[in-house]
Amino acid sequence: MEHDAVFRKRYNIHVSGANIPSPLQDFAELKTRYGCKPYILRNVCKLGYKEPTPIQRQIIPVLLSGRECFACAPTGSGKTMAFVCPILVKLKDATKDGIRAVIISPTKELAAQTTRECKKLARGNKFRIKLMTKALIRTPDLSNFHCDILISTPLRLRLAVKKRKMDLSRVEYLVLDESDKLFELGLVKQIDFIVKVCSNPAIVRSLFSATLPDFVEDLARTIMHDAVRVIVGRKNT
Ligand code: ADP
Ligand code: MG
Repeated sequence: MEHDAVFRKRYNIHVSGANIPSPLQDFAELKTRYGCKPYILRNVCKLGYKEPTPIQRQIIPVLLSGRECFACAPTGSGKTMAFVCPILVKLKDATKDGIRAVIISPTKELAAQTTRECKKLARGNKFRIKLMTKALIRTPDLSNFHCDILISTPLRLRLAVKKRKMDLSRVEYLVLDESDKLFELGLVKQIDFIVKVCSNPAIVRSLFSATLPDFVEDLARTIMHDAVRVIVGRKNT
């Protein structure tokens, strides 16, 4: 749509892929366009977010339409909310159907930070949101572990699957956050393993990054089908 192109240009949003949904004009569209529950808008308001950031404007509709995506936007541009919000909307309510969404962070500190942000956005809903802690991986048997959203580093998650029989076969949403860092830290083997064991054929994968080196683009191409690519600002800033 002509109108979308103008709007994207205004926010320096660059997209590639077929049939990309229109960017969000405001947070209220979460309700009017996607029927999201009031608790999310309440939390957004409480957090003091007045309007979506450029990456949020484009990625939220992309993920809500069920598309896989690959998003690149500078540090501090609100990428966390861009993937957490659609996951909350899509999961609707807490269930006990295994592990439903997995967010991979490169470090323990970032994983803890993402967990906190996730909990703030989910307040008022009964979602079980879990951080993969050292204590959790010490549990002898995790084969019946369930939660709506699990946040982990790749090393800990692989350990939980290999040694504690954690089952990732029902995961519906897999997010690789800070994928440029995941690479820099040499975690490619762990990522490959996680992508493989998240074997649900209906899974929606997404990849987030602050910079866009070739290896990140290559990963995006190998693990995702028909992904939408969204870049805010310039490629390597
Ligand atoms: P990134 O992952 O892109 O580096 P974060 O998701 O960590 O960025 O967000 C950076 C900061 O911006 C956080 O403190 C977050 O709470 C805040 N933030 C996120 N979305 C918005 C918004 N729409 N308006 C204002 N602040 C926001
Ligand atoms: Mg981030």
